[in-house]
Amino acid sequence: MSRVYNFSAGPAVLPEEVLQEAADEMLDYRGCGMSVMEMSHRSKVYDNIIKEAEADLRDLMNIPDNYKVLFLQGGASQQFAAIPMNLMKNKKAAYIVTGQWAKKAYQEAKMYGDAVEVASSADKTFSYIPDCSDLDIPEDADYVYICENNTIYGTKFKELPNTKGHTLVADVSSCFLSEPVDVTKYGVIYGGVQKNVGPAGVVIVIIREDLITDDVLPGTPTMLKYKTQADADSLYNTPPCYGIYICGKVFKWLKKMGGLEVMKQRNEEKAKILYDFLDQSKLFKGTVVPKDRSLMNVPFVTGDADLDAKFVKEATEAGFVNLKGHRTVGGMRASIYNAMPKEGVEKLVAFMKKFEEENA
Ligand code: PMP
Repeated sequence: MSRVYNFSAGPAVLPEEVLQEAADEMLDYRGCGMSVMEMSHRSKVYDNIIKEAEADLRDLMNIPDNYKVLFLQGGASQQFAAIPMNLMKNKKAAYIVTGQWAKKAYQEAKMYGDAVEVASSADKTFSYIPDCSDLDIPEDADYVYICENNTIYGTKFKELPNTKGHTLVADVSSCFLSEPVDVTKYGVIYGGVQKNVGPAGVVIVIIREDLITDDVLPGTPTMLKYKTQADADSLYNTPPCYGIYICGKVFKWLKKMGGLEVMKQRNEEKAKILYDFLDQSKLFKGTVVPKDRSLMNVPFVTGDADLDAKFVKEATEAGFVNLKGHRTVGGMRASIYNAMPKEGVEKLVAFMKKFEEENA
C-alpha cells in the first residue's frame, strides 16, 4: 500500500487510523453481522452511533445545551437557501462577501429577500478580510452572514465581525474543528464535513434553539425546515448514515489527540512551516495578506503559469497530490487540514526548496 500526501481542498485527507478502523469494521460492525452501510437508521445499533457522534461533537466544541446539532444532507450549498428560508423573518440579511462561497450564499439569499452586501474584499481578489468592526448593518437585518474560512482564497476571519447585536451565521466548512470556537457567539455554525471532518454527504448545522421555529418563509420544503430536522433529531428521513459514522470516528480521534486546543497548536505549527518558507522564497509567494492567512488552505504562486504547471506535475510525480490551485485563481493551493501530518508539510517544503533551486 502506498498513500500519497493529499493536499486536496475537499474531499480531503482523513486520519489513517479512522480509515483503518472503518476497514476493520466494514463487514461486521462490532458483532452485529453487518456493515454500518447495511443497517437500518432506526436500529438500536445505529441510534447509538449517531447519539455518540453528537455527544462527542458537543464535548469537543463545548456546545451549550440551548444549541441543536443537526446532521443533514445537501452539502453546504443547500444551506445557502435553508438559512434565509428559516431565518429571514424581516426578509433582510447582511452578507460579508469574502470569496466565492460567501458570494454564492449571498446570491442565493437574494432569491428570498433583501440580502445586503455590507463588506467585500472583491477589490483585491479576496486576498484579505475586510475590517468588520463598524459595518453599516441594517437595523432590521435578521442575521449577519460570513464564510469564516475561505477555502479558495486562503483567508480566515481571525476576529468575528461586530454584528451590532444581530445573529451571526457562519459557514465553517473549511475550518471546522481546526481550533476551539466560542459557540455562544453564533446563531448558526454550519459546514460540509468533507474537508476536516468526514466523507462528503454530511453537512452539520449547529443552531441556537430560539432560531428554530415554524415561522419560515412560505414554500420552505419540509426537509429544509430546521424545525423538522431538530424535532426528529436528524432522523426525519434516512440520514447519511455511513458518513455520520465516519464523522463520529473523527470526533473520537480528535478527542484522543487532545481536543481542539491541541489541534490549533498543531495547525499553527504546520501552517508556519509553509508560510515561513513562502515568506523567504525567491520563487514562490503566498497570495494572502499575512494577518488574514488561513491555517487550512494555503494558496501560492510562482508568477509564471507555465512554471506553476511544471511544479504541480513534478510534485504529483513525487507523491504530493492535488496541489493545483482552484480553477478561478490558478497557481497552487496546499490544503493542510487536521489529518495532514506535520511530516507531510515538511516534506512538501523540502520538495519546494529543491524545485526552487532547480528552477531559479
Ligand atoms: N462553503 C465553503 C467554505 C466551501 O469550501 C465549500 C466547498 N468547497 C462549500 C461551501 C460548498 O460545499 P458543498 O460542496 O458541500 O455544497
